[in-house]
Amino acid sequence: MKRTLYLKFLIAYLIFGFFGFLVVATFGSSMTKDMLIRNKAESLYKEATLIADTYATDLYNSITSLDTVQNEIEMLDVYLSSTIWIISPSGSIILDSSTTMDVNNTVVVEGFDPAGNSGSYYSVGTFYDSFEEEVLSIYAPIVIDFKVQGYVVIHTAIAELEAFSNQLLNISYIILLILFMLSSIIIIFFTNFVYRPLRKITKATEEYASGNLHYQFQVDSEDEIGYLAASLSYMASELARGEDDQKKLVANVSHDFRSPLTSIKGYSEAMLDGTIPPELYEKYLNIVRNESDRLIKLTNSLLTLNNLNTEGMVLEKTDFDLNEIIRKTAATFEGSCVQKKITLQLILTGENLYVHGDVTKLEQVLYNLLDNAIKFSHKDSFIRIETVEKHNKVLVSVKDQGIGIPKESIRQIWDRFYKTDLSRGKDKKGTGLGLSITREIIRAHGENINVISTEGEGSEFIFTLPLSENLNEE
Ligand code: ADP
Repeated sequence: MKRTLYLKFLIAYLIFGFFGFLVVATFGSSMTKDMLIRNKAESLYKEATLIADTYATDLYNSITSLDTVQNEIEMLDVYLSSTIWIISPSGSIILDSSTTMDVNNTVVVEGFDPAGNSGSYYSVGTFYDSFEEEVLSIYAPIVIDFKVQGYVVIHTAIAELEAFSNQLLNISYIILLILFMLSSIIIIFFTNFVYRPLRKITKATEEYASGNLHYQFQVDSEDEIGYLAASLSYMASELARGEDDQKKLVANVSHDFRSPLTSIKGYSEAMLDGTIPPELYEKYLNIVRNESDRLIKLTNSLLTLNNLNTEGMVLEKTDFDLNEIIRKTAATFEGSCVQKKITLQLILTGENLYVHGDVTKLEQVLYNLLDNAIKFSHKDSFIRIETVEKHNKVLVSVKDQGIGIPKESIRQIWDRFYKTDLSRGKDKKGTGLGLSITREIIRAHGENINVISTEGEGSEFIFTLPLSENLNEE
């Protein structure tokens, strides 16, 4: 995967940092400066009005002398670090705390117009070009008998305020820098908990898409991404299993079809080219017929199994007498039992035993189990079919004294086409599909089937069926 997501996130992070600094540098700086000016103006305005109401009024009313007021405002100048003026409405400077005024040479501030300051009590600038640097000038009128006699103006250097504003800004920058560095923790989290797992997931999807369904990957987090990874890996394993099953099925089907077809082809060619003389035709035609029967059986079983799996199984459930079905199925095997001198023992509960299920399909279950039991039994042995009632269920057992099933095969006998090595030697006709059909049918009824078997001693298949609700009580 290209590192685009990571890059995008990093760029977003840097943009965030850049704009953060920009905002602090522009808005932050002007807001701090404005606020400092306003605060300073407010506090100096109080001083200015105090001077206007006391010393200046006394001066205008000739209560105090010019020198006394000069001394006072000089002291205040030091205390406030500001220049204090008393100025007439026309702009003549009457008193200046920074110099002693020359009475004969009055300094006039050209263009002085306090009314032109749009009502504000302070202004920032060079105060009608009276200063070279920018100053903050605060006005307070001297009012006597409801008439403005002059103004007290306090000037303070803006440079000092700016220096203070810059100090405050520097603190903001440092805090911002710390925050920016701390927020890089998000990048570390993002890398470890989002970016890296996502890369692994993407790599895995690429592998799966290219057909490597056995590709393994590990994402150890218990969040949505961990769940996504687990689901993906589960999906791949299911797909792989499906693919493996499919391959196995095709291999098995081909194998099981090939051997009967080979012998049918071989014998018919041998008859046609005269290798088999006509007097032996019957023997070989019988073989050909048996092989064709096997092919038909195989095809039918495959179709049954396919229908069971694709449609889910449609069961036509009724209440029926299980004893009757067992007896009927047992009877169909009478011939083969006589041939192998096998004794079938039926140990059935009561005269009738009503169960609820699909009679045709359950007949097939009994048929498959009995067929296997006879196939894998030794001559002169017993097969026992028994029913037992237990908690509204019937347990049906089919037990033989045959070759048994090796321990290592016991889990696989339910798989399609599976045959134990023991049975491959003995049973050439078996398809390996009977038990998988049997299990599908029992499961479709919501019931269970199990096997207990010891190699060389015999096997017992046990399955459950639901008892019919009413009929058995009669
Ligand atoms: P098959 O048509 O080959 O009998 P099944 O699916 O019915 O196919 O059985 C699968 C395999 O399980 C058999 O090939 C055999 O190896 C084993 N098996 C089934 N029933 C018995 C039994 N009663 N005794 C011993 N082995 C059995």
